[in-house]
Amino acid sequence: MILVTGGAGYIGSHACVELLNAGKQVVVLDNFSNSSRTSLERIRQICRKPLAVVEGDIRDQAVIEKTLREFGCTAVVHFAGLKSVFESVSSPLDYYDNNVIGTHRLLRAMQGCGIKRIIFSSSATVYGDPKFLPYTEDHPLGPVNPYGQTKFFVEQMLRDLFVSDRSWSIGILRYFNPIGAHESGLIGEDPKGVPNNLLPFVAQVAVGRRERLNIFGNDYDTPDGTGVRDYIHVVDLAQGHVAALASLDKPACFAVNLGTGRGYSVLEVVKAFEKASGRPVPYDLRPRRAGDVATCYAGTDLATKVLGGWRATKDLETMCRDHWRWQSQNPNGYDA
Ligand code: NAD
Ligand code: UDP
Repeated sequence: MILVTGGAGYIGSHACVELLNAGKQVVVLDNFSNSSRTSLERIRQICRKPLAVVEGDIRDQAVIEKTLREFGCTAVVHFAGLKSVFESVSSPLDYYDNNVIGTHRLLRAMQGCGIKRIIFSSSATVYGDPKFLPYTEDHPLGPVNPYGQTKFFVEQMLRDLFVSDRSWSIGILRYFNPIGAHESGLIGEDPKGVPNNLLPFVAQVAVGRRERLNIFGNDYDTPDGTGVRDYIHVVDLAQGHVAALASLDKPACFAVNLGTGRGYSVLEVVKAFEKASGRPVPYDLRPRRAGDVATCYAGTDLATKVLGGWRATKDLETMCRDHWRWQSQNPNGYDA
């Protein structure tokens, strides 16, 4: 049995599907602070398999220990946490509380139960400003906002834990820009309020929920002046977790990038989304957004090596098509 923290959220729900499809049993622990219970129903609908759910908070060590014991868990895939860079600047203590203290309690609970296998959702933001590209895993770490700091601190906590006890198996996965949705259109990203990220915003403009996209900066040193990112299909990303879990069959502590290795500009994404949806995405060019880098993409060789040959296979067209299917079938998200 695998404990999936934050399994009702965007990436967690897709990971649950892939874990269930791979024949694993799954129990989700989520406090639903940024998700809907409906996503769990949809996972059951896609997989036609049981999925256990515990409503609880990762900062509650007793609940985690009880869940780990009750369900006989052997490993944890840890998604739960807060993820908005913007919000982390105005509410840093909430971010340190949920992400750092929460993970600390989770690790304590695991230690208390003798469960020593964990996969952690880290982020490309731990690298900070690029000293060279692509970002390979040996790129210096230097997060530039509180959200990135929380990911960096947790990574460090995990590395220190492994040094203290080398019987742990720890996989740190640094995600680049997950987009898209399950091909069924039943699960997908359902941000609360105004989306901060590009794809959900573009999709909400295409579906008519918002009027125009703001493009933050067209004077970067990139082919068309807009920011370049490494977008990865969320199903490829989710499958990376199944591969990582298989790699944790022996003690280890590794950090690998989950990306495609290729970047697309904001304008390229807008064009691809217009094509996939058949809808216009009108936009305004705005000044740069504070804290953004011009270009960000992953070196992927280490992940493929460590994760037994895993690599992302879905292209931008598929990402946009699947994202659109989810958005058009659920124009107001899960609880419309
Ligand atoms: P999400 O907000 O959709 O999912 C997070 C889930 O965790 C939600 O269901 C939320 O209710 C739950 N949660 C939050 N705090 C909790 C707590 N204290 N106790 C229990 N549950 C809690 O986010 P996501 O996009 O699915 O991201 C999952 C993980 O991946 C996060 O850790 C995020 O930082 C990381 N990540 C995401 C991205 C991205 O672009 N989406 C990129 C890099 C890393
Ligand atoms: N972006 C934009 N308009 C938006 C949201 C994002 O132009 O409403 C740009 C942003 O400046 C960056 C790219 O889209 O160049 C990806 O941004 P996102 O927030 O999705 O990911 P991150 O910056 O965290 O990599």
